[in-house]
Amino acid sequence: MTAGRFAPSPSGRIHLGNILCCLLAWLSARQKGGKVILRIEDLDAARCPIRYAEQMIKDLRWLGLDWDEGPESGGPDEPYFQSRRTALYQDALKRLEGLVYPCFCTRAELHAASAPHREDGQTVYAGTCRNLTAAQRAERAAKRSPALRLRVPDREFSFQDRHMGPYAENLERDCGDFLLRRSDGMFAYQLAVVVDDAAMGVTEVVRGADLLSSTPRQLYLYQLLGLTPPEFFHFPLLLAPDGRRLSKRDADAGLDSLRGQVSAEKLLGQLAQLAGFHPSGAPTPAEGLLDEFSWEKVPREDIRLPERLFA
Ligand code: GLU
Repeated sequence: MTAGRFAPSPSGRIHLGNILCCLLAWLSARQKGGKVILRIEDLDAARCPIRYAEQMIKDLRWLGLDWDEGPESGGPDEPYFQSRRTALYQDALKRLEGLVYPCFCTRAELHAASAPHREDGQTVYAGTCRNLTAAQRAERAAKRSPALRLRVPDREFSFQDRHMGPYAENLERDCGDFLLRRSDGMFAYQLAVVVDDAAMGVTEVVRGADLLSSTPRQLYLYQLLGLTPPEFFHFPLLLAPDGRRLSKRDADAGLDSLRGQVSAEKLLGQLAQLAGFHPSGAPTPAEGLLDEFSWEKVPREDIRLPERLFA
């Protein structure tokens, strides 16, 4: 059975980009008669107070995007808050033990290391702590608690994104050893997302193209943990009218201001029009889009929001 998911990080009020993500995930799964899982990605406790998650749940209900498992659904193992699932991530970390090493680099050191920058702005880890001796590790551990990194191979990881097409990355060259746990003990997104998508039986991951370059790292984790990866559908990003990336700081695009201005149906109709599968742009509930939606109609280039979306 198809299982899709919403996996929002509640670090603010949801914005149009998050809504488009949930709408596409919902349509893609429901069109196949599949289920939808809501998982709140709140590992960063300082940035994700519970009130944001509660508001997010209310906003999704207001939008009429329903789910079968997750907070308050009564589904199999609800509630799905990542902050309550850390024992699972710890367990996965243990299974990766031989490939994991402590990294003592400070942010400044990481920045200073002469690693090339990737297209997406992230740096490639230079491998500074990869081959420290036991004595060097002990000496550094006395001063600073380490983050944990996964050793990656000099090998290409490729996959067929179901919307964006083929994508490949050599993990050592293009990414470097990546974090599984931060120095403050917080588990990294890459590890948690793989453990959870597999544990929840997710068969399709729908998310913004900003996460396309995370996928090879996740595929490597699937392989190491002996898990079956889902299919991936990455969709283009929504940009502000001036071409900037939309963020939770864009008040106009956040639901707190939008809910006062438009109905859920109007909002969904316009978003679906922008995303290419609802030419009329007429107000509609999510179910009303099930016949019209198809991935072929969704563009592959970033979508710029018009100046006055709901005028
Ligand atoms: N929690 C992530 C976000 O809100 C999404 C992760 C994913 O879909 O894999 O950006």
